[in-house]
Amino acid sequence: MRPETNAVHAGQTPDAATGAVAPPIHLATTFEHGADGARISSYEYQREGNPTSDRLREALAALEGGEDALVFASGMAAITTLLESLPNGARVLIPDDCYTGLRILCAEYLPERGILVETIDMADLDSVRNACTTPVTLVWAETPSNPRLKICDIAQLAQIAHAAGALLACDNTFATPLLQQPLSLGADVVMHSTTKYFGGHSDVLGGALVFARRDALFSRVGHRLHITGASLAPFSAWLTLRGCRSLPARMALHCANARRVAEFLASRPEIQRVNYPGLPTHPGHAIAASQMRDFGGMLSIELHGGREAALAMAARVKLFINATSLGGCESLIEHRASVEGVNPVSPQNLLRISVGLEHIDDLIADLEQALAG
Ligand SMILES: *Cc1c(COP(=O)(O)O)cnc(C)c1O
Repeated sequence: MRPETNAVHAGQTPDAATGAVAPPIHLATTFEHGADGARISSYEYQREGNPTSDRLREALAALEGGEDALVFASGMAAITTLLESLPNGARVLIPDDCYTGLRILCAEYLPERGILVETIDMADLDSVRNACTTPVTLVWAETPSNPRLKICDIAQLAQIAHAAGALLACDNTFATPLLQQPLSLGADVVMHSTTKYFGGHSDVLGGALVFARRDALFSRVGHRLHITGASLAPFSAWLTLRGCRSLPARMALHCANARRVAEFLASRPEIQRVNYPGLPTHPGHAIAASQMRDFGGMLSIELHGGREAALAMAARVKLFINATSLGGCESLIEHRASVEGVNPVSPQNLLRISVGLEHIDDLIADLEQALAG
């Protein structure tokens, strides 16, 4: 089945008890036992698994082409549960441009667990090969990356990681399975912040891991999820499942609008650099074109005039909202360094933009008036 069809149908079969076409939400925390003390259905307690989350797991596994999926209370819960499932002494490589929460988790918490983390430019395959000459447990890819929209070659990274006996995990939040399917390119695990495009309406937090195989790693991470308890609430699972059905249509418009916004900004003298993999000038354009179906709804810009110019532009927009996060219907713009905490790594002149579903002419008019000042 094609992703557009899976988005509408996987995990969404009508309710067997009532015929309801929209999936029911099961809020029960506990499920009745039979006379022999055994479970009646496959369920016992909500944290361990429940019918609404299971529908979402089925949808995500189908969309990413994995054997199974796990859902979490947030994207960070998914990342943490996966990385903390690695053995003591594990060595992990993460990208130099990646989600801030991952960077902070690796700097502050994983070392306490005896997990070593090194930061590397994943677009530079020679330096990845070089780093893999020392034993490595897991390579983390994020493409396009946050917030600089760097592109790395998933198929090549999978080969390098596997040759070194390591797993490849890929944060696919920016692309979504509608644009890119890392498991089909050789990745072992795909991670999502479903808070973003899957939810799609800036109103539900969630995270997911999709596994290529229902193997020992899947069982270990699943057990850790049940015991450490970062489970997704059924209502959040239901909202996310609802988001799945319109994901293909929304992504098509996000991509079309973002391309126009990127082209417009690239033509403006106030802008030093536009980071959007759909522009032929982007250093990762050829790889993005080969591994993605389209280039996504996210971009970032670096302004002439430094931090002041960036803050001024973010303050002058009227339609775009100056806020963090991404993937909702509304367009957002943010000064990334300001939301990165005590040690920001993003350039001070960088604004990250999540292009929404408004009419493109209104979006461009807003950016035009913000640049005019
Ligand atoms: C938001 C985000 C995360 C973290 O997800 P939460 O749902 O906020 O915990 C991880 N990776 C990327 C690329 C993100 O955008």
